[in-house]
Amino acid sequence: MSDYYNPKRSKKYNYGGRYWKLSRSKIDLFLECPKCFYIDNKLGTKRPPGYPFALNSAVDQLLKKEFDLLRADGGTHTIIKEYGIDARPVNHENLDEWRENFKGVRHTHKKTGITVSGAIDDLWINSKNEYIVVDYKATSKNEEITALDKDWQDSYKRQMEVYQWLLRKNGLTVSDTGYFIYCNGRTDVEKFDGKLEFDITLIPYVGNDSWVEETISEIKELLEKDEVPKADPECDFCNYRKRVNELLDKF
Ligand code: SF4
Repeated sequence: MSDYYNPKRSKKYNYGGRYWKLSRSKIDLFLECPKCFYIDNKLGTKRPPGYPFALNSAVDQLLKKEFDLLRADGGTHTIIKEYGIDARPVNHENLDEWRENFKGVRHTHKKTGITVSGAIDDLWINSKNEYIVVDYKATSKNEEITALDKDWQDSYKRQMEVYQWLLRKNGLTVSDTGYFIYCNGRTDVEKFDGKLEFDITLIPYVGNDSWVEETISEIKELLEKDEVPKADPECDFCNYRKRVNELLDKF
């Protein structure tokens, strides 16, 4: 078994356990498949994760450093100027905690008692004193990335909306407009020379967090049931699992 995956994790991390909380990625899993969500959070076995991409983390760290330098002296960034945006990186006494993966921005939802969490990448502010959620993304695609128009990018939009909701619940006035900083690794340069070059684009997204509260209530309702939800008949993973079980049953 790899260092990254334990199919038999401690019950303390299941719903009702001391360490269980609802991260924004768990909310996304619920929306993708309630059955997988239930098996993970109630029964305690999650799907094997996508393995960490060290290059993505390196880009995140470098962007954080770059924006932190500006945050310290109240400056703005060339990309903010280039796009003519009313914003600057801002400090907040809780920012370090809000950026930490196992802490993040947290809020306990009154109606369900569920604690929701999510770690933001960056926080900016505009001249109306509205906080702005900023998320970094790193990839390598042949085309220029200027919009979030692919189906799979809906999860990025939901991610932004959960962060906006969490910050609002922590008492901040938050702009509906957040930004994705997209770093696209270039493969069209003549020589590598041990350096990876990136094209950086800034993509605005106007969020709407009105779905979040209702979804948390639906999650609570599901987790209180002693019944595993139905699988999606179109899901390749489940069809694979079913077929493997059928084959192995013959032995
Ligand atoms: S259909 Fe099955 S494998 Fe697919 S996401 Fe749902 S429970 Fe998981």
